[in-house]
Amino acid sequence: MSLAAGLGQRGVHVLCADIHLDKPWPNNYGTWVDELQPLGLADCASHVWNRTAAYVRDDGRKSNLDRPYARVDRHKMKRRFLDRCQSSGNVVVVKAVAKEVDVEGERSASTVRLVMHGGEEVCVETRVVVDATGHSLNFVKFNQGKTPGFQAAYGVECVVSDKGYPFDNDEMLLMDFRDDHMQQSPEDRHTANTTPTFIYVMPLDDGAGRHVFFEETSLVASPAMDFDHLKQRLYKRLAHYNIHVDEVLEEEFCLIPMGGEMPVLRQRVVAFGGAAALVHPATGYMIARALELADKAAEIIAAELRASHADADETAHRIWDRLWNVGRRRQRDFFNFGGEYLQRIDLRTTRDFFAAFFDLPKDQWSAFLSFRLMQPLERLTFGLGVFARTTNRVRTSIVYDAITKGRFPLLMSVLPVYDVEDET
Ligand SMILES: Cc1cc2nc3c(=O)[nH]c(=O)nc-3n(C[C@H](O)[C@H](O)[C@H](O)COP(=O)(O)OP(=O)(O)OC[C@H]3O[C@@H](n4cnc5c(N)ncnc54)[C@H](O)[C@@H]3O)c2cc1C
Repeated sequence: MSLAAGLGQRGVHVLCADIHLDKPWPNNYGTWVDELQPLGLADCASHVWNRTAAYVRDDGRKSNLDRPYARVDRHKMKRRFLDRCQSSGNVVVVKAVAKEVDVEGERSASTVRLVMHGGEEVCVETRVVVDATGHSLNFVKFNQGKTPGFQAAYGVECVVSDKGYPFDNDEMLLMDFRDDHMQQSPEDRHTANTTPTFIYVMPLDDGAGRHVFFEETSLVASPAMDFDHLKQRLYKRLAHYNIHVDEVLEEEFCLIPMGGEMPVLRQRVVAFGGAAALVHPATGYMIARALELADKAAEIIAAELRASHADADETAHRIWDRLWNVGRRRQRDFFNFGGEYLQRIDLRTTRDFFAAFFDLPKDQWSAFLSFRLMQPLERLTFGLGVFARTTNRVRTSIVYDAITKGRFPLLMSVLPVYDVEDET
């Protein structure tokens, strides 16, 4: 939607097909306020918390993160982009399912077969096809090799009884890695340590503390942790805190592929969003990044179309190369190493890692989370900063992984031996 709006504003004619056009986006999106503000989207938040915190220390102390957080208003934001599409006068949005993309016929255009709401079939010729179907990867091809990690989370938006609520009512809790609720038996302690999960807490009623979104989250694992297990852990944790759920308003089953291989950059189908591997390989976040990149991607596509390459393959390849330029690819390699490292470490090591992470200057940890470590030296400084602040347990495991797993891509991600192009 955001890419279509950006293209429309640049005078490109777009047909945007979405099966779920008339439905709100299903996911409960959270993001940092300072990411929405520069995009002019700060008003598309249903809740804003000025205080954000995490429990990531072995001694159970809270880390105050001093970075306001927002819950996206999924209705308003979708409306905003539909309005932008409409006001450009260049975008037609239809409720339809894309069934097939033919990239083999004409050299100058591809054909997309759509089934419209109502059953009518339509074939559309287009110079550029963008697959934005998320992680279902309907049309875009990926390189084969590495399996991705998965963030799995089970969430409930609910009303809780008011006795014994242990979290701050006006504070967003980004991650709580405490495991007091898993100390009853050796098996529980072992499970908690070997398969770490945390709770994410959004209080939703401005201090009353009754309307809350809780999500038990496995940050990244391969294979993915299953939802039943996450649900059990969530309720066990809530029971430990004497929190009683009176009413479940909504459940969320979250599964996000993270890291793994890149899309093939030599294909005619271009992609955007989850389908273009834009998700952060170590955190699972993407929305703010995709919204920011949408404008840049629109600029790239519009420029390539203006440059008028008759050959649709060549146009697509040039778009791919600019979307996934060297700077972004190297940044992804660095984050991929982080995501793969997090998959392998236990709870104690994870807590040590994040304690050091949030002890970094705010600009540095924010840059890691918000895809702003574009320069090799920024990544090196970040890595050395964690290394200097952390425990020997983390240092040893990072060095081991850097040598045995990170190797050349990790090294290249931190060596300043290539030029990082301007963003577009
Ligand atoms: C449950 C969940 C929670 C998440 N929470 C956060 C978060 O808090 N913060 C964050 O930054 N990231 C979050 N993410 C990660 C990421 O931002 C989302 O996955 C994001 O929705 C990906 O956006 P997308 O547009 O690429 O794909 P999607 O949001 O999946 O959108 C794809 C769209 O394509 C349509 N579609 C699919 N196939 C076809 C077809 N053949 N024809 C026509 N239309 C089709 C679908 O109806 C859908 O509207 C979350 C992911 C999940 C799954």
